[in-house]
Amino acid sequence: MSCRLCGDKGVLRIRYHDATPDDYGVCLCPRGLRLRASLDALSAALGVPAAQLGVVEALLEAHEIPANLLGPVAGHADIADAGRAAGGKKARL
Ligand SMILES: [Zn+2]
Repeated sequence: MSCRLCGDKGVLRIRYHDATPDDYGVCLCPRGLRLRASLDALSAALGVPAAQLGVVEALLEAHEIPANLLGPVAGHADIADAGRAAGGKKARL
């Protein structure tokens, strides 16, 4: 296992403290990046509504994403902005 975020599954389940339904974030690691090519197919394969599936940098706060995954894909500022746009105040378990 080399990805600390998703355990090399490419997707991680994000549970919230409030009643918000779980979201599923597609990881920034190589496995996750491959899955991003077809999010529609992924949501069907997982049986997850498309509205609850997104890229992990939009669902998690920047500090929740291991720094080694950030690399050249997106900078901290980009991720923080994405988190705010996605409603970054949601609390995560
Ligand atoms: Zn990963």
